[in-house]
Amino acid sequence: MIYFDHAATTPPSEEVLRTVNEVMTRHYGNPSSLHRLGEDSDKLLRRAREVCAASLGVQSAEIIFTSGATESNNLALKGAALQYRNRGNHIITTAIEHPSVYECAKQLQVLGFDVTFLPVNGEGKVTAEEVMDAIRPETIMVSIMHVNNETGSVQPIEVIGLQLMATQPKVLFHVDGVQGYGKVPISLKESGIDLYSLSAHKIRGPKGTGLLYVKEGVSLFPLLAGGGQERGMRSGTENVPSVVGMAKAVRLAGVGVQARMLKLNALRKQFIEGLIEIPEVILHSSLEGSAPHIISFSLPGMKAEAVLHMLEEDGLMVSTKSACSSKAAEPSRILLAMGASEAAASSGIRVSLGEEHTEQHIELLLASLNKAVSRLRHLKGGH
Ligand code: PMP
Repeated sequence: MIYFDHAATTPPSEEVLRTVNEVMTRHYGNPSSLHRLGEDSDKLLRRAREVCAASLGVQSAEIIFTSGATESNNLALKGAALQYRNRGNHIITTAIEHPSVYECAKQLQVLGFDVTFLPVNGEGKVTAEEVMDAIRPETIMVSIMHVNNETGSVQPIEVIGLQLMATQPKVLFHVDGVQGYGKVPISLKESGIDLYSLSAHKIRGPKGTGLLYVKEGVSLFPLLAGGGQERGMRSGTENVPSVVGMAKAVRLAGVGVQARMLKLNALRKQFIEGLIEIPEVILHSSLEGSAPHIISFSLPGMKAEAVLHMLEEDGLMVSTKSACSSKAAEPSRILLAMGASEAAASSGIRVSLGEEHTEQHIELLLASLNKAVSRLRHLKGGH
């Protein structure tokens, strides 16, 4: 089996598995308990917070542990909207955000907030100019993802962040960093980011665990009321084993980013060069403007699901659209926003690469894809 669906989730690393197992077995205390076992867990939690903060170049107190990026994004958007609603009611985001931002913004509209969904160009990008033009006196927040999970398009986060720094009062800048972290370099401090979401399972960590960076001085209305954990912003006993596992994953993903990019870029180039030889293929990810691990394409007139299952017969796993929405029959909202036709947006296939892949894996994938396309064309031709 060769797994080409790293944007959906990644295989946990050995180090993460060992850590989670050890913490669950031996350090099961509640970090809020005052006895030795509790203190032991609290120490692990503190250390994990330090490791995550050091990898992101921020302070420990600025890290809030959550149940994953869906929660981090909800906390960032709703928490900020509710906390700062006396400043204004306008929020800016894009048409291609992950559902955990997009649907959250829609809920905020129902609650009376005014949301601008910025359109994107054919490469799935917004410009800093477009963001700045959308700002009004009542704008409280801008939320833009770093790397799109369906196409890999990369947004100019640094430029947008720098321009937002000059706003007065400061318009908060939230970045969904889930697909970018470890694949595309980013500096939270230099990019003027106030809120940044991460998910552990996209970087070889455990599922159901994430974090939200909340810049010092920014406060959020908590979505979960309770015992006041996580500086009162996220109540609930922390998932210590997974959080400690996530810290390992965050540290490992944060080192060697350039080398990882080079390796993945070479594999992606090899794949794209083979892919564009297939007649009628439509590529949605550009070589320059996309992250190194995601390639999205369509084979119009062919059912993406049929292609997926034919590849699976050869032991290769890819995705139709993104895993979160692949069970929905509608065309991809992301591809439509990029100007793709209904037919192309309904037949999107996503290949997402990982560090374990080799040139040989790509050759196998291309061969299997060519075989599937000829078989489907043959079937369509009525032979
Ligand atoms: N944002 C992006 C860009 C994602 O790709 C995902 C996962 N599909 C999420 C947020 C949600 O992350 P989680 O699975 O941790 O809730």
